[in-house]
Amino acid sequence: MNKQAYYGEFGGQYVSESLMNTLAEVDAAFEEAIHDPKFLEEYHYYLRQYVGRETPLYFAERISAKYGTKIYLKREDLNHTGAHKINNVIGQILLAKRMGKTKVIAETGAGQHGVATATGAALFNMECTVYMGKEDIQRQALNVMRMEMLGAKVVSVESGSNTLKDATNEAIRTWAKTAEDTFYVIGSAVGPYPYPKMVKEFQAVISREARRQHMEAEGRNPDVVMACVGGGSNSIGMFADFIDQPEVELIGVEAAGKGIETGEHASAMALGKPGVLHGMKSYLLQDEDGNVQLAHSISAGLDYPGVGPEHAYLRDSGRAKYVAVTDTEAMDALMELTQLEGIIPAIESAHAMAYAFQKAKEMTPEQSMVVCLSGRGDKDVNTISDYLAGKGYLN
Ligand SMILES: *Cc1c(COP(=O)(O)O)cnc(C)c1O
Repeated sequence: MNKQAYYGEFGGQYVSESLMNTLAEVDAAFEEAIHDPKFLEEYHYYLRQYVGRETPLYFAERISAKYGTKIYLKREDLNHTGAHKINNVIGQILLAKRMGKTKVIAETGAGQHGVATATGAALFNMECTVYMGKEDIQRQALNVMRMEMLGAKVVSVESGSNTLKDATNEAIRTWAKTAEDTFYVIGSAVGPYPYPKMVKEFQAVISREARRQHMEAEGRNPDVVMACVGGGSNSIGMFADFIDQPEVELIGVEAAGKGIETGEHASAMALGKPGVLHGMKSYLLQDEDGNVQLAHSISAGLDYPGVGPEHAYLRDSGRAKYVAVTDTEAMDALMELTQLEGIIPAIESAHAMAYAFQKAKEMTPEQSMVVCLSGRGDKDVNTISDYLAGKGYLN
């Protein structure tokens, strides 16, 4: 057993025998690439010239004044395609090219990772197929249209619950048959090793920039660093360079949906138990027989029944703390950020904001907090409008 593949008891490679070699090849290629200055130069070239990095660390004046502590926002919403996901996609597709692959596949739930992958595939001239649950295809018509415009083929997955969990299973199955010319671009810090490690490395640019930017602004580390947690990619990227800075408190915010007690939530950390899904061992929402349960959140991007294995480890080791906020709390925070700062956040990111406002109440005016604003809210305007009209998400 490859010890490196584990974070404490979590992680690993729970895949069919036929994929073990493929994963070993990906790992070897990745380790070589990230120690090759030419690869890093290319990766950072595209982050700068195409994605638009670095993103600002914005001091949010009005919410800071209102909540009585310094609140800085890491503006991942300003990236090309509107969220952090493109950081990881650029890295993985450059790796795929380096390995001589000509095709990429991806899974998507809300469609955000599908759009980011289709974008990278267009940029680097790769054939792209995106697996998406039938249910999600209907719910996310706009993102399906975007992917098709970008030249990707969207495959409807009709099994199980017809959502992300099933699309991911299908993508893994397809990869096992096509790995010779195909690279699987995973969209969060999940999946079999080495994916959680790769995704963390490609998202770590968030904390690398933020730590330096905060140092320039305040001359020290922030007291608190916070991010929302779906599978855990923007949060692990936001935590990465702070993990070995013990004075910095790390907080991950999951979706409590309609409330943890209702059973309709997406909080794998609050109520999940260790189990195996999508090639990894981690905390998962499951019933008493170990069947994976459907997650619920008003935000499609947090609607995942598991969490990345490094987060499971950070939680058990006590280095990071995980909390959950409800749909209603997130939507209140979304409107507040919109009206006090003129920034419409993604509903995912609004979960981190909601807990930031709660946390600020126990902090002093001299202390400071960095919140990862993982994406912008343009994609969510229909959901927000239905919510405000009282349709669908009354608590
Ligand atoms: C996908 C998404 C998330 C959740 O995914 P993580 O892997 O947990 O980061 C959060 N915010 C936005 C804007 C997203 O698109």
